[in-house]
Amino acid sequence: MQIYLDGQFLSREEAKISVFDHGFLYGDGVFEGTRVYNGRIFKLKEHVARLFESAHHILLQIPLTEEELAAATLETVRRNKLQDAYIRTVVSRGPGDLGLDPQKCSLATVVIIADKISLFPQELYEKGLKIMTVTTRQRSANTQEPRIKSLNYLNNILVKIEASQTGSMEAVVLNDQGFVVEGSGSNIFIVNKKGELLTPPSYLGILEGITRNTVLELAREEGLTVHKVPFTRHDLYIAQECFLTGTAAELIPVISVDSRTIGKGSPGPVTKKLMDRFGQYARQDGTPVYP
Ligand code: PLP
Repeated sequence: MQIYLDGQFLSREEAKISVFDHGFLYGDGVFEGTRVYNGRIFKLKEHVARLFESAHHILLQIPLTEEELAAATLETVRRNKLQDAYIRTVVSRGPGDLGLDPQKCSLATVVIIADKISLFPQELYEKGLKIMTVTTRQRSANTQEPRIKSLNYLNNILVKIEASQTGSMEAVVLNDQGFVVEGSGSNIFIVNKKGELLTPPSYLGILEGITRNTVLELAREEGLTVHKVPFTRHDLYIAQECFLTGTAAELIPVISVDSRTIGKGSPGPVTKKLMDRFGQYARQDGTPVYP
C-alpha cells in the first residue's frame, strides 16, 4: 500500500506522523471519505471542495490548492492500482506543542489513504437494516457546526457505541429539539404516506452529505417529490420506507427503528429504485483515475 503523506508516497509501515500533531492531541483537523467506483473517483471535486470549506471554517491552511489535492488523490489511487476503493483524506493542524494554540503548528499534515471499506454485510443491503434511536444527542450547530467534517468525531463514536451495546449496527440521532438529524456516519431519508421523499434540512445540524445531495438529484429526475424538512421520531416510525446514505454506507434500506417495523418490513420500491439508480450513476460518473 502506498500512502500519501505530505507530498511523499510511503508504505503503510513508513507513513507515520508526530505524536505532537494536533490532529492526534486534540482532534484538530478535517477529513473526507471518497469512493472510487469502476476506476473513477466519485464526486472528487465536491469532496475536495467540502474539505476546503471545513478547513476554511476552522482557519486551517491546507498547504495545497484544490487542484493539487485532487491530483494527489488521483495519484494515490493510481499507485495502488485500485478500481473500487475508499479514500480517506485527512488534513490535521500539524505538529505543535502540548498547548492548544493552533498558531504554534506551523504546517498542516496531509494524508491520503486509499483502501477498502465495508460498513455492513452485503445481505443487509438486500434485506435492510434494523436501527435504533440513541440518547446521545447531536451536538448543536451553535457549539460545533456538524457541517464541518472535523476530526473530532467523539459524538458520532458515542452514538456508535450506544448502538452496538444494544446489538444495533447503526443508530439515528436526534437533535436537542427531538428532530431526527442523521446516523452516526450517514444521512437519513424517509418516504411518507403520500410517497414523498423527506430528509432533514442542513440547518437542523447534519453533515450535508454528498451522497445525500446525489440522491436528491436522482430522486427529482425520477419525478419524486422531495422535501428537506424537519421530522420527528413519530414520522420515522410511521414512514413507508426509510434508508441511510453515505460515502461508506452508500444507500442502505432500513426496515425497523426501535423495533417498529417500517412499511412492510422489507426494502420498499422507492428505496430499491434509488439504490439501482445510484449504483448505475456512480459507475459512470466521476473523474477517471486511469485516463
Ligand atoms: N453524516 C455524517 C456524520 C457522516 O460522517 C457522513 C459520512 O461521511 C455522512 C453524513 C454522509 O456524507 P457523505 O455522503 O458525504 O459521505
